[in-house]
Amino acid sequence: MIRFFILAITSYLGFKLVQKVASRFFSQKIPCPQTKPEVESEELVQDPVCKVFVPRRNALKAQKNGEDFFFCSEGCRKKFLR
Ligand SMILES: [Zn+2]
Repeated sequence: MIRFFILAITSYLGFKLVQKVASRFFSQKIPCPQTKPEVESEELVQDPVCKVFVPRRNALKAQKNGEDFFFCSEGCRKKFLR
């Protein structure tokens, strides 16, 4: 009877250990979506001419009165600077 009891505890602890290792393994496998390095470059800026939002890295930049403005196209930029 004691033998069976010990066997039950051992298998229970063994199962727990496997579960712990498995969960650690899986949590390492799945990459955390919070730590994306591209968040900064995906920032949207508004074109003051046509009011369209464009990603900052794709936008055309112009300066007026020491301020930075971003545009969807060269046409909008020219219209703004005119
Ligand atoms: Zn535009």
